[in-house]
Amino acid sequence: MNVIDIINKKKYGHELTNDEISFVIKGYTKGLIPDYQISALLMAIYFKGMTDLEATYLTLAMRDSGDVLNLDEIKGIKVDKHSTGGVGDKVSLILAPLVATLGAKLAKMSGRGLGHTGGTLDKLESIKDFKIEITFDEFKDQVNKIGCSIIGQSGDIAPADKLLYALRDVTGTVDSIPLIAASIMSKKLASGSDAIVLDVKFGNGAFMKTKEEAIKLAKLMVEIGKNAGKHMTAILTSMEEPLGHKIGNSLEVYEAIETLEGNGSDDLNEVVSVITGHLLLDAKIVKDFKEGYNLALTTLKNKSALPKFYEFIKAQHGDLNFIKDKNNLLKNSKMLKVASKKTGYIESMDALEIGLAAMKLGAGRATKDDEIDLFVGIDLHKKIGDKVLEGETLYTLYHNNKGLEEAEEITTSAIQIGQRKKSLKLIEETIN
Ligand code: URA
Repeated sequence: MNVIDIINKKKYGHELTNDEISFVIKGYTKGLIPDYQISALLMAIYFKGMTDLEATYLTLAMRDSGDVLNLDEIKGIKVDKHSTGGVGDKVSLILAPLVATLGAKLAKMSGRGLGHTGGTLDKLESIKDFKIEITFDEFKDQVNKIGCSIIGQSGDIAPADKLLYALRDVTGTVDSIPLIAASIMSKKLASGSDAIVLDVKFGNGAFMKTKEEAIKLAKLMVEIGKNAGKHMTAILTSMEEPLGHKIGNSLEVYEAIETLEGNGSDDLNEVVSVITGHLLLDAKIVKDFKEGYNLALTTLKNKSALPKFYEFIKAQHGDLNFIKDKNNLLKNSKMLKVASKKTGYIESMDALEIGLAAMKLGAGRATKDDEIDLFVGIDLHKKIGDKVLEGETLYTLYHNNKGLEEAEEITTSAIQIGQRKKSLKLIEETIN
């Protein structure tokens, strides 16, 4: 087989075979095919696209470039969820103890935040002594014993994706739907669970800016997962405003606890309950989605998943005394309350800008090696459609003196106040 023939085949829009795709992925991962040839192939894929079958072959070749975790020692159906990334998305922190309380097994590998979007691992690390690195055996034991665990990547998962992503980043080929789908799904499929719910975000705070692009991505990922033998569901959720009220690592843990205490915001309760409803159905715990959704919402409201949250934190060495008084999460930064200059309704809240404002305070990293401050962020006191009075607190900045003025300027201009009471449709579509 010859790489130039494969590049030409794709350049003229023909379908590549499984053998051709695995030849390229294996050769590239082993360092036998140079970056410039893969760059040309990526650009050809960018312009000519891929069929669902080609995207599946690519995903499986990328999955098989490294370790594929075997979770057979965990009894029962293993479920997982993945979000394509957003602002204020603390769903995993709530969902893990919730699904475990309701009898499912969630063995989850998470990532760190990059750019304006947050990452679950950073959030968990704002809990004193919490360990995101435990051995693979400890991970499986924990899921068997308490029903959930969230860790950093274990082993060498999809090394081909690391190489390809770095190359896409410098060749203008990141925003290709088959390449994104293969990148996300190769890592998910290597993580070993039986059923996956994808939360595909769209809107200005998301990776996919339009609903149409998000639908295409969601459909392709569902198809790839099914071709690989997994139970798949995708939901499409709006990222036109941040999810919940708080943005920033320790602040989001605080809000996750509030939600598990029965005081979550409507949007957060909704997304968590919808994803949990699907996962409970996949795990055969309920007979239909509606039953799973209702069970999830009731369990959030009656606080019965809160003890499981503490059990999860304790199992991963987190300091329970620290976390049981959730105000400890807000004590390592100073507060600046910012008042509204107008009376009216919140008409829009630019999630991207608010995410960037949180980055100015130090909550997020611009490049993967940047240091972040786990204790800074933004608490939005209002959501789209809420009434605000002039002089009333609109948001609070939690800061450690870095980027304060810029963050205030960006956040204030990201929030539009007018006379129309608007509402935002949060979940647009379910694909399964
Ligand atoms: N997230 C990923 O893991 N890969 C992509 O290509 C885009 C988003």
